[in-house]
Amino acid sequence: MTVAGVATETTTEQRRAALEAIAAEVRTCTRCRLAQGRTKAVPGEGHPDTEVVFVGEGPGQTEDLQGRPFVGRAGELLVKWLASIGWRRQEVFITNIVKCRPPGNRDPEPDEIAACAPYLKRQLEVLDPSVVVTLGRFSMGHFRPGERITQIHGTQAPAPAETGTRDAVAFALFHPAAALRSTEVERQSYEDIAGLPRVLEAARTGRGTQPAPEPVTMIDDEIDDLPIDDEPTLFEAEP
Ligand code: URA
Ligand code: SF4
Repeated sequence: MTVAGVATETTTEQRRAALEAIAAEVRTCTRCRLAQGRTKAVPGEGHPDTEVVFVGEGPGQTEDLQGRPFVGRAGELLVKWLASIGWRRQEVFITNIVKCRPPGNRDPEPDEIAACAPYLKRQLEVLDPSVVVTLGRFSMGHFRPGERITQIHGTQAPAPAETGTRDAVAFALFHPAAALRSTEVERQSYEDIAGLPRVLEAARTGRGTQPAPEPVTMIDDEIDDLPIDDEPTLFEAEP
């Protein structure tokens, strides 16, 4: 990756090796109580040259058994979301906030998230993405602290440097598991992810040289309080 003024040029093979070294540590990690209930830790996987990293919450049952992220029903839907913009999962990197499955798929605890955060930070330092796509509120809480998913889904903001990113934007999506429970969330999510290619393009152009681009969709505040048959047709005025 070429970022002006940063002397950390690495090759694809160096990044692949660095990611594998992190993954090897994760597979034997016992830094938090989630180590006790796991079958396999799930470090994450994807292309070492990617510009886009997807970050979910934590492994579910299928992921825990296979040691791979997003390979269950939520993963199938994520692959469909990617396909809707012409992307494939092998081209991006996919990981989670916590790398081991919380028992019974409960929410991860703050101390578990804190214990696991250094792995995600190191992955992001290696990958140096232009865009981090957060899936669900725990991931959003890490990259867009203090926000509400219902307010900011489909929008971007600069990712804090403490996350290990450099000049990246965080683009928020609902969790695919939430979309599996609600057809309205599913419909909204296809609309949200449709904005991602433009966000990537702008982030790429702006890295190191321009202020972060404006959020692409800002319609949620306006439509939130309206009855469904009263939604403004925001794009009517477009030529
Ligand atoms: N849900 C997640 O948050 N992550 C996975 O890897 C699978 C399901
Ligand atoms: Fe280690 Fe993270 Fe697994 Fe906890 S969740 S045991 S910190 S890899």
